[in-house]
Amino acid sequence: MTKATLPKVLPFAGSPLDRCENLRRDADAIRALQDSDRALFLPLWRGQIYMLSDGTPALLQGMALDALSLADPGPVLLGTQGKTRQPWFAIGLEEAVDADADFPLGGLGEWMDLRAAAPLLSTADLAIVGRASALLGWHNRHRFCANCGAVTCAAEGGIKRECPDCGTEHFPRTDPVVIMLAVQGDQCLMGRQAGWPENTYSALAGFVEQGESLEEACAREVGEEAGITIGAVRYVLSQPWPFPSSLMIGLIAEALSEDITLDDELEDARWFSRNDVRAMLSGAHERYRAPMKFSAAYHLLSEWAAHK
Ligand SMILES: [Zn+2]
Repeated sequence: MTKATLPKVLPFAGSPLDRCENLRRDADAIRALQDSDRALFLPLWRGQIYMLSDGTPALLQGMALDALSLADPGPVLLGTQGKTRQPWFAIGLEEAVDADADFPLGGLGEWMDLRAAAPLLSTADLAIVGRASALLGWHNRHRFCANCGAVTCAAEGGIKRECPDCGTEHFPRTDPVVIMLAVQGDQCLMGRQAGWPENTYSALAGFVEQGESLEEACAREVGEEAGITIGAVRYVLSQPWPFPSSLMIGLIAEALSEDITLDDELEDARWFSRNDVRAMLSGAHERYRAPMKFSAAYHLLSEWAAHK
């Protein structure tokens, strides 16, 4: 296998920040980073970021925070950047606030869904924003202890939550998802779900279940969704996917059968030739469309299409 055609890092990976794991237990050090006049605060509101007209996400300084209504847990330490160790924090604005009227940079850009903003952001910004979105989303959905139901508190700069009643520690989840191209000779299998943009097809995908290897999850998903039997499986790539907090694991799998039987999940599935895929990736196919460029599927297809 050659990886010559793969980018060094896939979109949402490649964060330039040091995650500061070594000082997470030092509350004074985290407080000093937060109080630094060099600290940058990345605001999110209802899962959206504020995109400035120059294509960068809005960043606030600490003095701007007093006028904002921050959601639990307040500033979350993302890490520090470069030799000067510039601190980066993520903040979530209260969902109920009028983020246009009350936002200090209002009028200089617009709130934008992360999927819409992703193609506009640099690799570094996308990685930082993606992690911030995944982390704040996790805090928002895990306010109560899954063990006893008590209200939990953020700890260690927002890298975990703790239950004051039963002592359980809760850590951000990452859910593994296999995304795979079943291939046979010069053909690969793709499907589409109802509701996707017209004529867009992509690699099949599904969550890895407990007690299952990646190879087993791959074979089960392709079998369930398209009725295709899978043989050998090889790993190609991985990508953090903050919708809301998955790790995409890209595989290419040998298909041992050809007849497609659809289940309820897919509206359609079909075999595509390598030439079809190449045309789809370049946007030149007369009918079919490839998945979004920032998706793992796009890069998985690129890897397969580049090699004979
Ligand atoms: Zn508890």
